Amino acid sequence: MGVYVNLRCRSCGTSLTGGYVRDYSAIGEPFVECRSCGTANSHAHKCTEWALMGSFRKACLLVRAALSVLFYAIAIFMLFVVIIVGMKDMDVGPGGFVVAAAAALLISFIYRVRQIRRLIRQSNERMGNPAYQMKLRLLGMAR
Ligand SMILES: [Zn+2]
Repeated sequence: MGVYVNLRCRSCGTSLTGGYVRDYSAIGEPFVECRSCGTANSHAHKCTEWALMGSFRKACLLVRAALSVLFYAIAIFMLFVVIIVGMKDMDVGPGGFVVAAAAALLISFIYRVRQIRRLIRQSNERMGNPAYQMKLRLLGMAR
């Protein structure tokens, strides 16, 4: 499942992703420096700084994050179900499954919120660096 991409250096063709990786879309530096020739390659269409994103892109990112919260919550819940079913001695009843579902959702939600907050904080820290801003301007990635 998922789309796999192999990003290559536009100057020398060396793989920037080290082969095929899952298609990504994230908060981070909008360029990747080639390990082989040092060319800065833009991947701003996939990954860029939070402050450089338009509100539509930010919204899309948050919607995808919400979907992944659900996806991981389901996976965690399944794990809980296996554990509950495995505890034959204890009768948890239907309430146990409700608690397990709520806990799974909470764990998944907190994990994702913390991750996104960390990525945004790190992004804003980078953007607070004048040398980094100058580099982005020289690359034509920021005003
Ligand atoms: Zn290169």
